Amino acid sequence: MRTIHLKIVWLIVCWGCFSTCFQSASAKDFVVVIDAGHGGHDPGATGKISKEKNINLNVALAVGKLIENSDREIKVIYTRKKDVFVTLQGRAQVANKNKADLFISIHTNALAKGRTAQGTETYTLGLHRTQENLEVAKKENSVILIEDDYQARYAGFNPNSSESYIMFEFMQDKNMKQSVQLATLIQKQFKGTARRTDRGVRQAGFLVLHATSMPSVLIELGYISTPEEERYLNSQEGIRALSRSICQAVLQYKNAQAGLSPETPITEPAESAVDTETPDTQSEKDAEKARPAQSSRSGHKTENKASVSQEKPVFKIQILTSPSILKKNDRRLKGFSPVNYYKENGIYKYTYGESTNYNEILRLKKKANASFKDAFIIAFRNGKKIDIQEAIQESKRNK
Ligand SMILES: [Zn+2]
Repeated sequence: MRTIHLKIVWLIVCWGCFSTCFQSASAKDFVVVIDAGHGGHDPGATGKISKEKNINLNVALAVGKLIENSDREIKVIYTRKKDVFVTLQGRAQVANKNKADLFISIHTNALAKGRTAQGTETYTLGLHRTQENLEVAKKENSVILIEDDYQARYAGFNPNSSESYIMFEFMQDKNMKQSVQLATLIQKQFKGTARRTDRGVRQAGFLVLHATSMPSVLIELGYISTPEEERYLNSQEGIRALSRSICQAVLQYKNAQAGLSPETPITEPAESAVDTETPDTQSEKDAEKARPAQSSRSGHKTENKASVSQEKPVFKIQILTSPSILKKNDRRLKGFSPVNYYKENGIYKYTYGESTNYNEILRLKKKANASFKDAFIIAFRNGKKIDIQEAIQESKRNK
């Protein structure tokens, strides 16, 4: 009897191993597009001994090689493997056409004469919170000025005008969470593995990131204008350490997406790591007051006198998202009041209106859409976000 049991156990174990191996062998390729910034007649920033385009390419090729050697399930595609010019739109198209899972753009920073800085920073697409971040985006976007037909191609976007960047203000980026996750992992590796100065995860309006339709980041490896960093960026040691860091972060990201590898846990990006400004404590307090008593932040059910009515789905209109808490009179809220926010995956999501009556919220949404054209309805139960379709069905049944 015992031997039969053992045999059954063995069969189950073997089948488990077999099916796991079989699944991984047939798993869909994970596609990473690596984009070495600039190239050809566009040198990017120039230093005393080197050009940005070459540093970017050296690191990009090294990252690709490391990734391919480390994980056979990952397919690496480059936007350029040689010293050639590629438009920003062309770079994004490579990623979109190949249905990439990740897009990583590699650049090198520079400051005007007389100013020095050092360290790495990784950008995701979003609204700049500092002038410094805006300047980096302006510099990288200005390469479109040497493209033919850039005005038609980028719908009149002027990379040097701050006003052009308003378009990034209300953008709802569905890939933001994952982009920030990858950026955070990259910065962690730069700091830990490559021992670089960590200048943090930041947001700004980069056209190349805007044109891609998958999680994407833009890395600034260091400052070519700082002699010590320029030497490092051109050294074998520097290329090896920086490329290893990016590769390691990609592997961790992929494992986390697949729910694998508990030894490389992903922690939610810390607020302090996103952008460089410190949160405004008063606006934090204001927002705290405005926040509903049962928010999705706490997640737990609270004993509440209104618990019966709380169990019905509560509809709200999501109007915008922000990486940080906004002040009550922030112009991005366009005078809408009262607004609430909930926090999801490290992002503050602002809502307007609240009702258990779906038709009422639909009417209110029309009003919100006049100012926030991408506003949409979401639903909560006991302060926890729930599936909107399920909530609508339930609301109709309860009528
Ligand atoms: Zn660049």
